[in-house]
Amino acid sequence: DVQLAERVKALTPSATLAITAKAKEMKAQGIDIIGLGAGEPDFNTPDHIIEAAYKSLQDGQTKYTPAGGLVELKAAIINKFKEDQGITYKQNEIIVTTGAKHALYNLFQVILNEGDEVIIPTPYWVSYPEQVKLADGVPVYVDGKESNDFKITPEQLEAAITDKTKAVIINSPSNPTGMLYTADELKALGEVALRKNIWVVSDEIYEKLVYGDNKHISIAQLSPELKEQTIIINGVSKSHSMTGWRIGYAAGNAKVIKAMTDLASHSTSNPTTTSQYGAIAAYTDTQAPVEEMKKAFQERLNIIYEKLTAIPGVACLKPQGAFYLYPNVAEAAKLTGHVSVDDFVGALLEEANVAVVPGSGFGTPENIRLSYATSLELLEKATQRIADYVNDNK
Ligand code: PLP
Repeated sequence: DVQLAERVKALTPSATLAITAKAKEMKAQGIDIIGLGAGEPDFNTPDHIIEAAYKSLQDGQTKYTPAGGLVELKAAIINKFKEDQGITYKQNEIIVTTGAKHALYNLFQVILNEGDEVIIPTPYWVSYPEQVKLADGVPVYVDGKESNDFKITPEQLEAAITDKTKAVIINSPSNPTGMLYTADELKALGEVALRKNIWVVSDEIYEKLVYGDNKHISIAQLSPELKEQTIIINGVSKSHSMTGWRIGYAAGNAKVIKAMTDLASHSTSNPTTTSQYGAIAAYTDTQAPVEEMKKAFQERLNIIYEKLTAIPGVACLKPQGAFYLYPNVAEAAKLTGHVSVDDFVGALLEEANVAVVPGSGFGTPENIRLSYATSLELLEKATQRIADYVNDNK
């Protein structure tokens, strides 16, 4: 009998996993399933990035790099922060990691002691609570109310802070809601964080996917004090369609970054050398493909949003960024005779052959997450199937 460590016994499997596995199984049986569970852009990585990576291999760049990443890549990241956010970091305030996920993992490992609390607004990205728990921390959930665009208020933040609180996570634009915090909202949350002396962990991985007149603001750009208090997490996965390359980074306090780098030096060592060369090209060469992908996402969003919200019992805030829709379908579930949204999601898979992720995995069980990182043709077909299912069964 294999006895695993307590820390892994407490892990909650990813919410997307069960439904994705089921969808795959049905697909293998020849059933025409449309999957809207994807958490990654459907575009290939831009050619010039692939070519730069290939060239680095031919040039013999096949060895270890410094554990915290190549100096040239850190320089490109520093330049990106200067241009996009108007903030200045030094080399020792940046670590390049094996995806943004690993930046977050390492961060919680170095800032949390047993029992330390991290405030996580709901709905949340599924890995935050697990990563906090893996660092012996305690997730404390604060309800980002749908009536407040799934965002938390400074009053809610303040009420959740105890003498054990170490950090609050802000993810803007948000996975799964697509909502964006404004500069004023961030300033108000930041004022609480400064007064209470807690870290702000700002996950900005969807920074480049912001639509219409909306603008991405980093809380770190609002004042020098807030920059000191914030650890920014970002990466090229979503912006440059490079999810498989595994390049992310963290920026902030030099002592925290050094601890993260020391930790990486004994676990992963450097992120893959070839991928780092690809990321240098991503940040130093043309940004045209980033804009093109964003345009495609925006076009899909506008078309699919209208179709989705026309379905009886489906209410959806219009996303401002990322590539997810997060409708409340409690009413549609009820209309079609289901006891819960989870149950409704099961029926969508079995009877409408559309795979979506139940909101219960993100901490809000009345919603479902649909990714529009798939072709317009499939998106239209999928929303039609959902509409037909609801209309035929209500
Ligand atoms: N943060 C959020 C909110 C995400 O949605 C994701 C990816 O799904 C990540 C971080 C991780 O990104 P990466 O693929 O760079 O590890």
